[in-house]
Amino acid sequence: MHVMSVVGNRPQFVKAAPLSRALARVGSETLVHSGQHYDPELADLFFDELGIPQPDHALGVGKGTPLEQTAAMVTALEPILARSRPDVMLVYGDTTTTLAGALAAAKTGVPLAHVESGLRSFDKSMPEEQNRVVTDHLSDILFCPTDVAVANLAREGLTGDVHQVGDVMFDAALMFAEVAARRPGPAAFDLTPGEYVLVTVHRAAATDTRAALEALVAVLHAIDRPGVFPVHPRTAAKLREAGLWDRAAAAPHVALVGPVGYLDFTALLMQAAAVVTDSGGVQKEAFFHRVPCITVRDTTEWTETVTGGYNRLTGLDADAVARALADLTLPGGDAPSWYGDGDAAGRIAAVLAERFG
Ligand code: UDP
Repeated sequence: MHVMSVVGNRPQFVKAAPLSRALARVGSETLVHSGQHYDPELADLFFDELGIPQPDHALGVGKGTPLEQTAAMVTALEPILARSRPDVMLVYGDTTTTLAGALAAAKTGVPLAHVESGLRSFDKSMPEEQNRVVTDHLSDILFCPTDVAVANLAREGLTGDVHQVGDVMFDAALMFAEVAARRPGPAAFDLTPGEYVLVTVHRAAATDTRAALEALVAVLHAIDRPGVFPVHPRTAAKLREAGLWDRAAAAPHVALVGPVGYLDFTALLMQAAAVVTDSGGVQKEAFFHRVPCITVRDTTEWTETVTGGYNRLTGLDADAVARALADLTLPGGDAPSWYGDGDAAGRIAAVLAERFG
């Protein structure tokens, strides 16, 4: 079996780590890096730390609007697909790279498999939601992380080749927890384990308008205990363009630092008192490590974390974040196993091997 995987940004590198290992046991993989994330701290570092094979093809797409990037990726993928003729194309998550990989496979008649299929925020203004819906409907094999995702697909009439396999990010969390725990984590930022807030914010809804950026600055100022915010380059650029960087950096308790690698981020997350985030992946990782999560969005795809009491949706609202920080209790007892048993990648590889092996 010959699989072509297309990755291009930070969460996709994390998802590719367990899958590349699992695929190596059952077939061969051609790895394509679209270049959607090109900053070394969002890309190269991840390949090194997570032991992902070096890409066979680097499209080097770089900066541009999402549509420009999609067009450039699709154009670059067509001849690669024609030459490599994979049995199946594997795409991950909900990014521009996911959409481009899906379009290229569908238009060249290569079977398409989607990892992290069926997630919905039901907010079509989100670029990620557009990418997910189109990718799911173009896919031949749908790998869902949760029961909620399977039910979402069923509502859209997608019931054929749907597999509830668990979450590959949970695989990655288990795979790297031990090595991450050996990192300095909070000590590197003069923070006391269990007493600080970890912040990540990068989505369009929080960074694309001045009003949203001002709300983000207010959220940072509302955090009433020591915190660290590894700022995504997109967020940093938008804050600077809006002339709001200095106000953000003046938040009394939260230090703004550059983005950190997966292992350092995991080390910070594992010992945090709480996470304030708009990241999809980080909401789940907070649950994996039983850290209370405050999600500064109005919707989430990971609804079970909210209904289960592990995650609070506050919107980008400073007062609501302050209220959530005042009560960080988590449900008692054993945490549910919504995201599988840590072998989602093995299941995906097994389904593909059975089909194409
Ligand atoms: N992450 C990281 N360093 C950071 C912030 C996040 O390694 O400074 C990791 C995090 O552990 C998770 C992934 O990046 O695995 C999430 O990516 P991101 O928030 O960019 O994307 P999303 O999950 O929202 O699609």
